[in-house]
Amino acid sequence: MKLPVAENWFTAREVGPDVTLILEPHVHVLEQANMFLVQGRDRDMILDTGMGIVPLRPYLDTLRRDPGKEIICVSSHTHIDHIGGVQEFDVRLVHPAEAEEMAAPSGLNSLYRDDMPARLIQTFLDAGYPPLDEVLIDALPHAGYDPRSYVLRGAPATGLLQEGDSVDLGDHVYEILHLPGHSPGGIGLLERATGVLFGGDAIYDGPLIYDGPGMSVPDYLGTFAKLRALELTLIHGGHDPSFGPERLGEIMDHYEAIWRG
Ligand SMILES: [Zn+2]
Ligand SMILES: [Zn+2]
Repeated sequence: MKLPVAENWFTAREVGPDVTLILEPHVHVLEQANMFLVQGRDRDMILDTGMGIVPLRPYLDTLRRDPGKEIICVSSHTHIDHIGGVQEFDVRLVHPAEAEEMAAPSGLNSLYRDDMPARLIQTFLDAGYPPLDEVLIDALPHAGYDPRSYVLRGAPATGLLQEGDSVDLGDHVYEILHLPGHSPGGIGLLERATGVLFGGDAIYDGPLIYDGPGMSVPDYLGTFAKLRALELTLIHGGHDPSFGPERLGEIMDHYEAIWRG
């Protein structure tokens, strides 16, 4: 299959005060995760780092007011579409339940559909995602790029984030919520002062994935109960556009009805 060369690999858009959403528009929507840059007074944070098809850091630094400032890389969880660039950062934080996976990724590690387990593909189709082409990208990041050369590298964590910990950027302080269900060590980041939540893949406004390795519906129900107890104003999910608390309730109602039969 002959793919065109992309003009820009990444795109970026402001989605809140000091918060920039970064996407890889040429990755199939299934693996096109949201990356969030938060620029704080004392330090910056990148939440999730995409597929790692090309280095993120040079692009990211063009978006930062002060590229020389310290930056903390937080992984909401360790699926292929969220940890592609972790090795580019000196400070790498993840939940302990997925630290081993981040150090040495054992899951999907290819851009080719035929390398994905058939059951995983079925899970995605059942969840409502469009069918996959042979390769998960619809353009090359640069001329001569060979999609077969793709590798998800991973990197060991330099610190761990558990329920109740916080990530302090100076003027933005995020409390860590453990939100398992989609993955055992999924975390959310809650700014209590504003009610803004980064939910990772525990919650987003698109087809949720809950039936696969490391996933648990009982855990997911507990995660939803935890989310229902929060005072939220805005939710930035791991995929798809951001949404408000009313939509959050609708999404949770929908899945709970499915899970409780
Ligand atoms: Zn994801
Ligand atoms: Zn995921």
